[in-house]
Amino acid sequence: MEGKCIFTWLSRQCSEVETKDEYDQSYNDLKIFLTNRRTCRDLSQSCRQAVLELQENLRSKEAKLGNHFRLFLRNCMDAMTTSPVESCNHSVKHGSFSVHSNMNLDMTCAKILDGANTRIQRRKNAAEREMAKFNHASRGITKDVLIMKGQRLVDREHDDRLKYCCVQIDADNFIVWNFENEDLGEMNKEWPWTELPRFHRVRTLALRSHCGKHFITCSCGFRERVGIPCRHMLCVLGGEVEISMMDVRWWKAFHKHYGEESKIGETFQISFYQHYMKFTDMFR
Ligand SMILES: [Zn+2]
Repeated sequence: MEGKCIFTWLSRQCSEVETKDEYDQSYNDLKIFLTNRRTCRDLSQSCRQAVLELQENLRSKEAKLGNHFRLFLRNCMDAMTTSPVESCNHSVKHGSFSVHSNMNLDMTCAKILDGANTRIQRRKNAAEREMAKFNHASRGITKDVLIMKGQRLVDREHDDRLKYCCVQIDADNFIVWNFENEDLGEMNKEWPWTELPRFHRVRTLALRSHCGKHFITCSCGFRERVGIPCRHMLCVLGGEVEISMMDVRWWKAFHKHYGEESKIGETFQISFYQHYMKFTDMFR
């Protein structure tokens, strides 16, 4: 039981912590956990020492593994790692003829080119299918314009906004939080899962202007990573959703025209200001 818990503890440092303070807190709490009476009873001294050393080792790679460094990476879709061992894993999964780090350059380039062509064709076919699809699973107003995956993300953020409270601090700033309705999951109910560090987070949202355009930013970074407004923005905006809020890469039309030298991506600009203006009365 402790083994699974320690694994979750360390993996959360790589996938869930959002600030340097949270990372350090998690690191210190694990050290304390390893000196806990119950932990000492169940795990040997050498085992606890090995966990400590592993954590030290991981911490020396904090800049690569710590989740807080990836919070605002554009379009990363919450990817957890960009590990150099992925190419070796790829050849383990897909056979020795797939590209890996020991392959010579001629062979690698040919394989990469073939792979790229196949992917482009596959993507084109998928885009054609998306254009002809109807999304009956969603009631969102963007369901006919966004690809299925994008609409699912929008629906999730839209529904989850209801779990949050928001307050306007001044003309340009809001805070959004949810302390009561946090879902801690089944496994978090008894020791040692109760020892895992959890963080109550207050999101700060700001209205900003740049070159005459208006934007809203949120401290969670979801908008940057995924290209869809986060639940905190939708909470502030009262659930208003419009197609111009979504990155163009979620649009069916973008996928359809992708690679055909269309200028479709340049013709849309994302502006939240008009949506914000609609709801300013709510906060007066
Ligand atoms: Zn947010």
